[in-house]
Amino acid sequence: MDMYNLRQIPSEAKIQKYLRFAIFGSGKLFCPECQHSNPVAYENRYRCRQCRYKFSLFSHTWLNSLRLPLTQWWMLLWCWTQRIPVKQSQALTHLSEKAVRHWYDQFRNHLPEEYHVLENIVQLDEAYFKNWCLIMGKQVGSKKLAYDLIYQSSPGRLHANSFLFQKVQPGANATFVKCNDDKNREKTA
Ligand SMILES: [Zn+2]
Repeated sequence: MDMYNLRQIPSEAKIQKYLRFAIFGSGKLFCPECQHSNPVAYENRYRCRQCRYKFSLFSHTWLNSLRLPLTQWWMLLWCWTQRIPVKQSQALTHLSEKAVRHWYDQFRNHLPEEYHVLENIVQLDEAYFKNWCLIMGKQVGSKKLAYDLIYQSSPGRLHANSFLFQKVQPGANATFVKCNDDKNREKTA
């Protein structure tokens, strides 16, 4: 189980790319101090051309305490989305109880709350990345959200069915919106 999951974790570079996308959208990086875009990049950090402020990708975000290898952190995120208890997550990620609890708190505070059963009109989105994808459902006219991370390049029919079965109220009007292009990905991240 351990090895199986670890092999499906995206590479450090992929995760970095995803997080960058999640934080800055598809647009360009900008300075957290003066919002000036197009900073000078050096050694994994950036310097603003306007105000000379130095920053990293995660400065000024809730990820600024992130010191773990991204793959290990990703595994922890996966554990959290699967509601795996702290003790078991420790065994899977080889992290201390303190670290697991810290990140579980961060995820709980910063990631959208998931509602398991969506009602009425539900809009379903898929976001594709190289080795994994996301099925996400939004209840139209509300902030209710449900999602599933799938470690495959595209969700199979089984995944879609199981998502609908588990997270959408029977009888709700669910429509799938395919989001293949970058423009639409922005919406789902
Ligand atoms: Zn600046």
